[in-house]
Amino acid sequence: MQQLTRGVVTALAIALAGAAFGATDAIPAAGGAIEITPLYHASLQIAYGGTVIQVDPTKEGNAFGPAKADLILVTDIHGDHFQPPALEAVKKAETPVVAPQVVADKLPGALVMRNGDTRTVAGIEIHALPMYNLHRGPAPGQLYHPKGRGNGYILTLGGKRIYIAGDTACTPEMKAVRNIDVAFVPMNLPYTMTPAEAAACVKVFHPKIVYPYHYRGSDLKVFADALQGTGIDVRLRDWYRTAPGR
Ligand code: ZN
Repeated sequence: MQQLTRGVVTALAIALAGAAFGATDAIPAAGGAIEITPLYHASLQIAYGGTVIQVDPTKEGNAFGPAKADLILVTDIHGDHFQPPALEAVKKAETPVVAPQVVADKLPGALVMRNGDTRTVAGIEIHALPMYNLHRGPAPGQLYHPKGRGNGYILTLGGKRIYIAGDTACTPEMKAVRNIDVAFVPMNLPYTMTPAEAAACVKVFHPKIVYPYHYRGSDLKVFADALQGTGIDVRLRDWYRTAPGR
């Protein structure tokens, strides 16, 4: 058992050490690889078939020099997900921005998706689903993320389903998703989940690959250990490294 623990620690150290600047993972898919580049906290770049998707672009993520987007997704109104100047910086004139209403209210021209909507934008099928807290909030009776405000997204790319969970607890909707190839799952208190809660949720919907993201201050070893032996490929990356020159 101790040996197993040591093995996990070593694997973690190697995984984090290997998280170099601009590290991109290629996920095989029909028609070519899906290229995933973690940028910062909740900001990530996904590229497939010549289409670049920026998710929740931020100044901190932009410091890593992401490509200009053909599609931008925004999950929620909070400043770690929606920064208008950072969004403009990765946007081309014609780039569609998909966002919940609360973001579109501050971003004229955004395409509004509500929880449960499915639509094809920039040739990519997008499904929006709820992201919300079950209990945690800034005060009794309040939630950091009330149901219906923000969106998680499932993208279908080359037959693969990519799930960007957004800032969420382990909701019934999250537990009900199926056939996910790659999932991005948040874990940080007090805003989302503990690593243990996130791992328990991931066990239920069982993606093939999971990236912890939006995990500031969390012990990823707890998450990785809890998923040992499940067959789920846990990909630990350093989403809080400093951009070169900063
Ligand atoms: Zn957040």
